[in-house]
Amino acid sequence: MARCNGSSDGRGCAACNYHRKSCEEDCILAAYFPLEKAKGYEAVNQLHGFSILSEKLKKFDSESDRKEFVKSVIWDALNVDGCGPTLT
Ligand SMILES: [Zn+2]
Repeated sequence: MARCNGSSDGRGCAACNYHRKSCEEDCILAAYFPLEKAKGYEAVNQLHGFSILSEKLKKFDSESDRKEFVKSVIWDALNVDGCGPTLT
């Protein structure tokens, strides 16, 4: 569903893209919110906000824990919204 064309200037991640800031190399969200998860990020951001989300991510030690966490917050956020598309 994501439109991937026409973004030649610094793709960044869904989070930085959403907040219109440049995605730094150490962006904690980049690995978990690639651009194709823009819809998911938008929903999560409305529910939790950027700072809470990154705070929570920092508390996990392992990569797989973070991935699991992100997966579930996205799922939660999209389903709170009531119109959750299936996200893979
Ligand atoms: Zn970023």
